Amino acid sequence: MERVKKRPSKNKPNDDLFSYLIRTRAMKRVGGCERCLTAKINYKALHCAHNQPRGRLSTRWHEDNAAGLCPGCHRYIDNNHDEKREFFVKLLGEDRYEYVRIQSLTPQKVDRELWKLYLDLKVKEYEMPTLR
Ligand SMILES: [Zn+2]
Repeated sequence: MERVKKRPSKNKPNDDLFSYLIRTRAMKRVGGCERCLTAKINYKALHCAHNQPRGRLSTRWHEDNAAGLCPGCHRYIDNNHDEKREFFVKLLGEDRYEYVRIQSLTPQKVDRELWKLYLDLKVKEYEMPTLR
């Protein structure tokens, strides 16, 4: 029988902030899905799709480790590893892709409060009107 493991709630505040950040970033960048470029009216129509598995805490809230995708693209890349890699390499460049991959494979004791401070700052930055 499959055992359903509950996500530890201590990650939830950061997960919520991170998801909001990634999805609103996608709306700013392309106005919708970062892969198929389908326009969306609201960030809520997007998923926060991870590159390296979010079970690896060292990169769970790293901005280069996720993109805002429509549900179709999210499902597609999660089932096609090569396409997923190709998408994120195109998005980040080979160097940044490798950096996140190596960081994700390097277990770290994460400071959730510190990540939260960072994510709060980034959310504020994204919500600020552009001055230029
Ligand atoms: Zn899409």
